[in-house]
Amino acid sequence: MRLAILGFSHETNTFSRVPADYAQFQKTGILRGDEIARQHRQSQSTLAGYLEAGERPGVEVVPLYFAHTNPMGVITRDAFERIVGEMLHLLEANGPWDGVLLAQHGAAVSEEFPDADGEAVARVRALVGPKVPIGLTLDLHANLTAKMVGNATATVLYRTNPHLDARPRALECADIIVRAIRGEVRPVQALETPPLVINILKQFTGEEPMLGVMRDVDAALARPGMLSASMAEGYPYADVPEMGMAFLAVHDGDEAAAREAASWLARRAWERRAQFVGDAPSPAEALRAAAAAPNGPVVLMDVGDNIGGGSPGDSTILLAEAKRLGVRSYLQTLHDPEAVAACVAAGVGADLTLRVGGKTDDMHGSPVEVAGHVRLISDGKFEDTRPTHGGARYFDGGTTVVLETTDGHTLVLTARLIGNTSIEQMYSLGIRPETKQVVVAKGVISPRPAYAPIAAQIVLVNTPGVTTADLSTFTYRQRRRPLYPFEEAVM
Ligand SMILES: [Zn+2]
Repeated sequence: MRLAILGFSHETNTFSRVPADYAQFQKTGILRGDEIARQHRQSQSTLAGYLEAGERPGVEVVPLYFAHTNPMGVITRDAFERIVGEMLHLLEANGPWDGVLLAQHGAAVSEEFPDADGEAVARVRALVGPKVPIGLTLDLHANLTAKMVGNATATVLYRTNPHLDARPRALECADIIVRAIRGEVRPVQALETPPLVINILKQFTGEEPMLGVMRDVDAALARPGMLSASMAEGYPYADVPEMGMAFLAVHDGDEAAAREAASWLARRAWERRAQFVGDAPSPAEALRAAAAAPNGPVVLMDVGDNIGGGSPGDSTILLAEAKRLGVRSYLQTLHDPEAVAACVAAGVGADLTLRVGGKTDDMHGSPVEVAGHVRLISDGKFEDTRPTHGGARYFDGGTTVVLETTDGHTLVLTARLIGNTSIEQMYSLGIRPETKQVVVAKGVISPRPAYAPIAAQIVLVNTPGVTTADLSTFTYRQRRRPLYPFEEAVM
């Protein structure tokens, strides 16, 4: 049997002012054909799991297309039509297919379609017809919709946050599709969307309350005939009608059993809802405590500048506060191509004074003036074979500068937007974060695999920004009402 592999992945922060146009996708790299295997076969991504399915006897997988870009604002109409247009063209030109494996995120929003993933799956379904099984693997942050699920044959979400299981989940999805094609199983799906939002501060699946939720998912999975069970934490920075948590069960043939499992999961989560509300220290509180901690490093998660959630990566809120409080032995990255260019022009070994960060918008602090010494300039490319969020292995931060400032701060300035999900980002620059008292990671959960092994403490900080944990700062126009905890709701 022949299965097509394709998709596009975007987590759309509708509060971000940076549109995801076609050039943004091109910059990250649109992969076609064999490029997909070259970049992903050795990784732990969704595509790697789909490719691995091709090692099963009698199964041929054909990677066609994959477009991805960093989380940012709404996907332009042009980008959506070009990307989905090419997907459909490649499917049609290379078919017929026994099955289709889609790698999507589940929180994509385009100018035209608040449920851009659902629209893409629906168009694929319309092209291949009702009989060809479609497998859909999604990120745990999907705002899951009936349109996505209804147009897929089997939907599987990651079950870990940070996302360390993309590859096995994609393989799980592909295996259901392979068995469905062989007539061994008949997947039926049930979706439950309780009126519930979980704060980003509470989303780590290694800790309560999510640990208990995931135990429930495991219990649902263990039920007879269950093919898959998933929980979506949802993505609260996409202002769309389906924003929120969701629960999904895929059963072999028994729709009532699928429905019962999904609604049991939703009810159990609903009973825990008070635990899903977050709280975190202010920048000043967190920095004072970190500087005074007996053991370092204290890793401060810059929640408001969560690059994995669509922020610009140039927030200076913590840097400015560290400067004000005189906190030394401090390490952080800033996405600042302008400052990189100034340091490159000055050269390695130069001393200079410049303004760094806070340049994208007015939500992430102002530029901070620093005096420093350019210790190193690198091409910003590195590889990490350790487990990383989303299973990435090869990284590229663009031209990268290590600036040692007179405040005792080590600043890593990058020309490209890159998160802090790999500790190799620092090791490759000769920086040992272990020796610092305070390390800032721009993210909430995704930097954990990189920094938990060396952190004396991890502290989530309530910084302002486009990914702030304080959702009351956003004006929602499209989300459901009532939705807990914004409003009291009933399930
Ligand atoms: Zn995610």
